[in-house]
Amino acid sequence: MAAKILDGKALSRIVRDEVAARTAQLRRSGLVPRLAAIVAAQDPASLAYVRMKRRWAEEAGIESGTFEVDETSSTGEVLAEIARLNRDDNVHGVLVQHPLPSQVDEGRVLLALSAGKDVDGITPASLGLLVSGAPGFRPATPLGMVTLLQHYGIEVRSKKAVVIGRSVILGKPMAHMLLELDATVSIAHSKTDDLPGLVSAADIVVAACGRPELVRGEWLKPGAVVLDAGFNKVPGREKDVGDCHWPSCSEAASWISPVPGGVGPMTVASLLANTVAAGEAALAG
Ligand code: NAP
Repeated sequence: MAAKILDGKALSRIVRDEVAARTAQLRRSGLVPRLAAIVAAQDPASLAYVRMKRRWAEEAGIESGTFEVDETSSTGEVLAEIARLNRDDNVHGVLVQHPLPSQVDEGRVLLALSAGKDVDGITPASLGLLVSGAPGFRPATPLGMVTLLQHYGIEVRSKKAVVIGRSVILGKPMAHMLLELDATVSIAHSKTDDLPGLVSAADIVVAACGRPELVRGEWLKPGAVVLDAGFNKVPGREKDVGDCHWPSCSEAASWISPVPGGVGPMTVASLLANTVAAGEAALAG
């Protein structure tokens, strides 16, 4: 293997320790940071993600609570909970775990959440702040990837980057965050012609398409930096699989994030970093 590892597991430990130190400082000042999660009650994967986020939050001294949305909950009920959380000065961050049950209008729920509490950075208000270049909470997964690049001292300015995927929570904000760091950015999607050709010109490749092992090492410019956000269950495979083909990409790249242990833990650490920042902002008034 030629590539060095963008070790999200190790870096997430460092970020979580920093969060814990900041939380302790907040508590000494009389503020207990709190994170509220809104989650579909009947979705085992969502419940497991939220449990893990809550466990890491509590380990870092952030209190957490969960509002479960079941198959009988209406959009109005969830909106009422959002309004309550927006008003509650003891809650600093709110996480809306996608997907909510289908009868709930998730778009309206996100629209209603106050940008100051959107620690996952995915509401239209937060995304608007990102696109305007204004301060605000950046989406947790792209923030985790950018933190990895910065921690390992990877130059982004003037580099060619390609982001494969254009979802609102991942591909689009990641492209904007790379643009903020002065990369020249292309966004690829399912209708992109000649994806291998586009990838072969890129110094930085962000795979965020949810297609197991789509990106092949033969596509990469030798020495490219590869961030793999993919997290895919593949029948017959014990471990989750990334969007990049590990054996070939880890040969061709200079740096690569593994799956698991790369972008996943950094997403949760970034959510906690945003939550403690929300607590600090509340204390500052
Ligand atoms: P999504 O909403 O399904 O979006 C996938 C994107 O990839 C779409 O824009 C789609 O294009 C594009 N795409 C699909 N097939 C493609 C292809 N063959 N070539 C080029 N582009 C293609 O998925 P998502 O929520 O962004 O998630 C993407 C991956 O990241 C998934 O594996 C997910 O599990 C993972 N993820 C990881 C974390 C984490 O914390 N590590 C967090 C969120 C998501 P169109 O727009 O044209 O359909």
